[in-house]
Amino acid sequence: MKLDYKLETINCPLCGKNNYEPYLTNVKELYNGTDNYFTVVKCCDCGMVFTNPRPTKDSIGVFYPDSAGYYQPKKRNKENTIEEKIKRTILAHYYSYKIKAPFGKFLAFLFKKLIGRKLAVSHISNYVEGGKLLDIGCSWGQYLSEMAYYGWDVYGIEINKKAVDHAKNVLGMKNIDNCSFEEYQCQDNFFDVIHMSMAVEHLHDPLGCLKRAHNLLKKNGKLIISVPDISGFEARIYGKIAYTLQAPQHLNHFTPGTITAMLNKSGFNVERIIHQSSGKDLIESAKYLDNKLLHNILKSPPIKKLFIKPFAFLLAKCGKTSRMSVYATKN
Ligand SMILES: [Zn+2]
Repeated sequence: MKLDYKLETINCPLCGKNNYEPYLTNVKELYNGTDNYFTVVKCCDCGMVFTNPRPTKDSIGVFYPDSAGYYQPKKRNKENTIEEKIKRTILAHYYSYKIKAPFGKFLAFLFKKLIGRKLAVSHISNYVEGGKLLDIGCSWGQYLSEMAYYGWDVYGIEINKKAVDHAKNVLGMKNIDNCSFEEYQCQDNFFDVIHMSMAVEHLHDPLGCLKRAHNLLKKNGKLIISVPDISGFEARIYGKIAYTLQAPQHLNHFTPGTITAMLNKSGFNVERIIHQSSGKDLIESAKYLDNKLLHNILKSPPIKKLFIKPFAFLLAKCGKTSRMSVYATKN
């Protein structure tokens, strides 16, 4: 199936120059499995990698059907599971959350040693009393409903109406706007935290949006984003079939260096970058190979548990997986 859309050629989204070379050519659109092909280029001046030419903002919607994986609600963690109790114990004892800790300090210490890093990827390090949190690209509201449960005053923006309806009608979320970030109405210096999980790589104007996020944050406000890392191990070995490449939905393909440069240019101070420990990219990329054998082997539960997960853990420790969480502060 071939989709109908308009293409535009752009300058580098980071430095604005018009000096780039091909990075990956003939990249098939794999996320929805259509017969459309794209080119990914690398800026010769600043090293930014980006899809170019790319579908225009007005026409890229054809690559985001309601059936896309981004918008499908998943099962939520139950409040009484052991995983949830461990989370609450760490948040209460170590991150100033005003919630009741199911376990005491000693266990909190052990839990933090064991899963503290994993938790830090998805959670704000310090709770702000009455703090306002905005999730840009909040999809069906999983993160927001969890953060509301932990005490945050939550707001969300999502372009997909079906996902917004789920967040509002099923999860009972109130402040969710069905619009783009550019259309979103809000006063400056309003939020304590802005969160964007796997969203910046989809934006037509990432620099403009990060600058606006900077304006909406209070002084010393926190920006927490996750983006794919095109210099990561899985992205390198799988190349144009890497799960995180995802052209043309992904327009901007960052490395730790280019995301730091873009955040600095938007007025942020990058505090730390944590590479996520996930076997997903090793496994999911293999499904795009012509021969499905490798995918079937990698996704089998014993292989996943004994090899993929420990390997991803080590890769993450070395800062070499293909997904990273970036913590930045408004200067
Ligand atoms: Zn550049």
